[in-house]
Amino acid sequence: MSDLSRTAAPRIISIANQKGGVGKTTTAINLAAALAELDLRVLLVDLDPQGNASTGFGVEPADRRFTTYDLLIDDAPLEKVIVATAVPNVWLCPANADLSSADMELVANEKRSFLLHDALRQVAMQSFGFDYVLIDCPPSLSLLTVNAMVASDAVLVPLQAEFFALEGLSQLMLTIREVRQTANRNLRIEGVVLTMYDVRNNLSQQVEADARATLGEVVCRTMIPRNVRVSEAPSYAMPVLTYDPSSKGSVAYRALAQELLSRYAQSNRERIAG
Ligand code: ADP
Ligand code: MG
Repeated sequence: MSDLSRTAAPRIISIANQKGGVGKTTTAINLAAALAELDLRVLLVDLDPQGNASTGFGVEPADRRFTTYDLLIDDAPLEKVIVATAVPNVWLCPANADLSSADMELVANEKRSFLLHDALRQVAMQSFGFDYVLIDCPPSLSLLTVNAMVASDAVLVPLQAEFFALEGLSQLMLTIREVRQTANRNLRIEGVVLTMYDVRNNLSQQVEADARATLGEVVCRTMIPRNVRVSEAPSYAMPVLTYDPSSKGSVAYRALAQELLSRYAQSNRERIAG
């Protein structure tokens, strides 16, 4: 990494889907770890009151002295909230149940949709030199998720290779469109990534075919297989890339990181070429 890229603004990606249990947190944790392996400095913002990303990185509730809630509601300085994780190059803004009241507390706030946007643009951000910020969204299209989208350059959508996977996607796309029209003109869809994919299951293949037919290029080439090592890792408070570096899940998340980097490079080339 050159010094120039260290001082540039980080790329901010929301990991969102209003359905629960589709692999948002798993993708946030392991994509962070995979980018970090490539020597990129990554901040993971836990924006879910359940705090699963924080737990998954071994940041115990007692150690969550300042959380994303303080960042949003109390204008807490980033350096108070951000903690290092055991994984080199990965930092975390932890969350806890405090965040569950944020939606209601924010309704009357004029800047309610811009709080995370503004927090991530504090001057102190520069001194961390992050290359990437990943935001692990709650399972809803609430004000928290809108804050994530307003703060982001792009949205990555995990899609569980299950029946009804595509249902609800149009609502998510509508929210993205609304954010684009009102608050963040440049918000892109980074990609849709199929998770918990089971090659031996016809249903998985059918969901993949449907997704590729309906959504086209936006669906990532990389698919995350259903892999028991992936689901075990959080109970050891580690990304699967640390817990079992050669597991199928680890290999897939590394491939996803590479794919996202090359897609981004490609889109930059297209932009420069006009
Ligand atoms: P979300 O954040 O969208 O609610 P999670 O990432 O917490 O979803 O995943 C839901 C559950 O599925 C968790 O128990 C997680 O361990 C499991 N899981 C996610 N991805 C995989 C995978 N590739 N293989 C096996 N289990 C997975
Ligand atoms: Mg989650």
